[in-house]
Amino acid sequence: MPEAIEVEIYKKMAERASGQKVTGVEIVDGNYLRGEGTEKYLKDEIVHKEVQQVRRHGKLLLLDFDTSTLGIRFGMTGRLVVNGVPAIEALLYTTNLLDTKYERFVLYFANGLVLGVSDPRRFGNVELNPNEKKLGPDAYTIKSAHLIRALSSSRATIKSQLLNQTKIAGIGNLLCDEVLWRSGISPKKEASLLSKKQVEGLAKVIRNTIKNLEERGGSHLGDLQKNRQKNGVCPIEKSPLLCENVGGRTTWWCPAHQV
Ligand SMILES: [Zn+2]
Repeated sequence: MPEAIEVEIYKKMAERASGQKVTGVEIVDGNYLRGEGTEKYLKDEIVHKEVQQVRRHGKLLLLDFDTSTLGIRFGMTGRLVVNGVPAIEALLYTTNLLDTKYERFVLYFANGLVLGVSDPRRFGNVELNPNEKKLGPDAYTIKSAHLIRALSSSRATIKSQLLNQTKIAGIGNLLCDEVLWRSGISPKKEASLLSKKQVEGLAKVIRNTIKNLEERGGSHLGDLQKNRQKNGVCPIEKSPLLCENVGGRTTWWCPAHQV
């Protein structure tokens, strides 16, 4: 969290900045600035410049200016704050307190709009001209051909491949478990061993699950979610769920129907 669905919600809120000039930048937390360039360079590049477009690629929020692009990553607990109001009230794994001590970065616009980033655990960052080429195709529009290419040559587990942002951009831990559970695929299955038909089905489940959870309001509103706890059972056949570390992440899955 936040995954592509949350960042898409942030993007829609941030679109109010489109066509607006930046009047000020506040890097409250110096460690939040990543990549090449100093704070001064970042300010020189975007202050008094107009936002041409607001975009999203995977979990990365992007503000395009004339000659540069500002990328914002939200890590595990980052929230976009619009005029003092968080774009998403409740994020799993984070305090819902909007304390100024969690404020990391603020943008001020000519029309009075203020966009801030509140990030208690501070895994997010901002970067001028982030390398978008490093990211795989966006999960919202993933095609089976993309997924076949991304998965065919890997001996890694399907779970770790789906979380690998260079293969497919935007899937986080919750969405990944939900998608594999809906697809009936074990998270521990070797990615390259999936049949073409399975991968085609998986691409479709990814797109549909994103649409479904976006309508519900976030990645944490999946069907599996309420059972991600001790004694949790599969909502399909009520058999006990397993909780294991797969791909370096806490994974909940159903050995009865995910094979
Ligand atoms: Zn099951």
